[in-house]
Amino acid sequence: MAKPKVAFYWCASCGGCEEAVVDLAENILKVVEAVEFVLWPVAMDFKIKDVEALQDGEIAVSFINGSIRTGEQEHIAKLLRKKSGLVVAFGACAHIGGTPGLANFSNREIIFDYVYQKSPSLDNPNKIFPQEKTTVKEGELTLPKFYNTVFTLDQVIDVDYYLPGCAPPPDLIMNAVEAILTGNLPSKGTVLAPDKSLCDTCKRKITKPEKAVIKQFRRVHEVLLDPEKCFLDQGIICLGPATRDGCGERCINANMPCRGCFGSTSRVEDQGAKFLSALASIIDADSEEEIKKITDSIADPAGIFYYYSLPASMLGRKFRAEL
Ligand code: SF4
Ligand code: SF4
Repeated sequence: MAKPKVAFYWCASCGGCEEAVVDLAENILKVVEAVEFVLWPVAMDFKIKDVEALQDGEIAVSFINGSIRTGEQEHIAKLLRKKSGLVVAFGACAHIGGTPGLANFSNREIIFDYVYQKSPSLDNPNKIFPQEKTTVKEGELTLPKFYNTVFTLDQVIDVDYYLPGCAPPPDLIMNAVEAILTGNLPSKGTVLAPDKSLCDTCKRKITKPEKAVIKQFRRVHEVLLDPEKCFLDQGIICLGPATRDGCGERCINANMPCRGCFGSTSRVEDQGAKFLSALASIIDADSEEEIKKITDSIADPAGIFYYYSLPASMLGRKFRAEL
């Protein structure tokens, strides 16, 4: 019997999601035995024309990681959508935008100006900027269009399921692969992780503040962190109250606060706003000046509250901008 065809693709991301597949360890052999890869640029040499030659819907499932930042990423995401029965947004960047999505606090012009003109490590005396088309004697060279905005995968194509996390943990990947291979799938649009908050399972939750106690926020390098105590109780921003469970408290166990890579639960529309509301209830202040003093002690609040989720948020980006 023919094995189901599977594609992996990598858009705007760091490559950690690809490594997460390797982290399946010996389980990767079970996956390789059960499926036929038709595209996996990081590991195997397939060409886009091989994918174009497939029938529409012939790929059983495409796992696409990374947000969408360039025209080429959009083109291949659309091609894979056409050729696939199922598309899974794999990892935080495809799911909610991820850290590349922090670029939505800026725009293409500002980014290019810094990277190609102002960066202190730059050596670009002729102020050369990347061009989408360059004519050389051998012909025309092209680069993909670099968009003004970073998009989540489902802002560009229809997505069937989401595997959250930076990167998704091996147990959730294996559960998803098994569910797909056996056809035992939840309803379309499901995030394949528990629908409760990280604080629900965090072993530090007994010390999580329930009333206004915080007079000042600090950063992790400014405090000798107590490994048993809730980060919020130590004045350290931890996005656990606004973040979906399922990672096994990876950062907390390493004595680092959560930055929200799993996104929020299904009951929350905007992860940053949800965290802001959780935070408001534990700030101990009697006047506007005091509130300002306490909130001013948070370094880069928008960047922390939307560390992973800016493109998926109600804000979306800082400036209104065209592609
Ligand atoms: S805020 Fe962070 S440290 Fe505190 S209970 Fe929630 S996840 Fe755990
Ligand atoms: S603790 Fe938070 S940031 Fe760390 S892996 Fe879990 S969900 Fe992601």
